[in-house]
Amino acid sequence: MTRYLIAGGSVLDATGSKPRKKTALFIEDGRIARIGKEEAVKAHAAKVCGTDYRTIDATGKTVMPGMIDVHVHTSYGDITSAEELNLYASGEYRALRGALNIRKVLRAGVTSLVDPGGTWRVATALRDAVNAGMIEGPRMKVASQYLTTYNGIGSVFPTWVEHPVSAFSVMCNTRDELVKEVRRQVRDSVDVIKVSGDGDVLRSEGGMGGSLTLDDLKAVSEITHLLGKRCTIHARGRRAARDAVEAGFDWIIHASYIEKEDIDAFLETGTPINPTLVLLMNIVEWGPDLGCPTPILEGLKRELDAAHENLSRAHEAGVTMMAGSDSGQSSVPYGEWHARELEIMQDVLGMSAMEAIQTGTRNAAFALGMEDRIGTLEEGKYADVLVVDGDPLADIAVLQDKERLDVVMKDGEVVDTATPLPQPRIYRWEKPQRIWSDPRTATQEFVRAEATRKPEWMVRKEKAGKAKRGAGRGLAQAAE
Ligand SMILES: [Zn+2]
Repeated sequence: MTRYLIAGGSVLDATGSKPRKKTALFIEDGRIARIGKEEAVKAHAAKVCGTDYRTIDATGKTVMPGMIDVHVHTSYGDITSAEELNLYASGEYRALRGALNIRKVLRAGVTSLVDPGGTWRVATALRDAVNAGMIEGPRMKVASQYLTTYNGIGSVFPTWVEHPVSAFSVMCNTRDELVKEVRRQVRDSVDVIKVSGDGDVLRSEGGMGGSLTLDDLKAVSEITHLLGKRCTIHARGRRAARDAVEAGFDWIIHASYIEKEDIDAFLETGTPINPTLVLLMNIVEWGPDLGCPTPILEGLKRELDAAHENLSRAHEAGVTMMAGSDSGQSSVPYGEWHARELEIMQDVLGMSAMEAIQTGTRNAAFALGMEDRIGTLEEGKYADVLVVDGDPLADIAVLQDKERLDVVMKDGEVVDTATPLPQPRIYRWEKPQRIWSDPRTATQEFVRAEATRKPEWMVRKEKAGKAKRGAGRGLAQAAE
């Protein structure tokens, strides 16, 4: 394995300490072997291997841990409809498509992810193929199909349609069925059990009320932990979130509607929340340009307002937040918006830039159960490192601009971010029905060209680009 010296940069180690200038990292055997003052680290490298290492010059740049996204659905395929998610594409096709999509995620600086549920056994296959060195992608911990009831997200069709085996969920309407399904999924080598605790804005019959009893949740948590795995839950509403904490779930996804009285339970158990607000924010901002229906937009706006109030308060009180993007949905396509969640943590939940960065690094490592190996730049940890052309503490949005991720390193290997990825054609059966009338997904390219509401960093960048080009033209004219 190649050894690397990353020198000259400002090291933002994500432990919470201030960035250290003129600090170097020495990478050996996929780990951070040394980190410290540049001269000392260079001397160490020379002693170990003479000059048998490559130097990455990070002068004027920020060196930070690879990002961790705890909410990427690798089997979804940038879906625009329930049919697309649950019916048409085969498991085999999804796995091959997923192999391309996780490369996009890695190239966006996400070196580890959690897949909290999806169709077939796509995510476990991708995880194993990455670990075996067959395909390139982030380090993954994965769930399989959500455990759902008729009354939660995951019950996608009316009961007169048999629940399809291809759905992203498996129907478990009794406690025995829940327990049996946990056993089955653990047998099939998942890392995480995902439970559907309630609904969302697409479910018309007030889906935030919670769909499982406390005892149901306790049964899932007990058997999951007995079998040495971890469990998480989709819980937008208050009841499912609060009950899941009490039942011992390892982390809660969304939790937008928790109230003041619920916060102590999170603090006492140390249960983190993965809010996943970029999904809502992207639809609210660009949905109108893409033909998203008004009732959905209004519902999502209301949830964003609630999350702002409730999750800011939870953060303030000390509840741990972990960043996740829900990538795989068409409003959050793979490899595009992972770092936007960090900006939202800052803007909507009132975090400092450092706290926001930690939600997508140090804090998020918890969801993989790898706090001791990833998430910060410390000696002995895996060498998952980004070299960023900019200062994310001054402008956190630089992390969204892939052109400014100079180096993405995973496990001590530099990821090729330059060779163009294939641009696959999209089959009719992949996108048979649409929620948005516009067939395109919200890629950064789309937003640049089409959206009327663009992120601030993008507008700034475009203005700066124009000014530069303008200046260049001026010179050319002067020369003529
Ligand atoms: Zn999700």
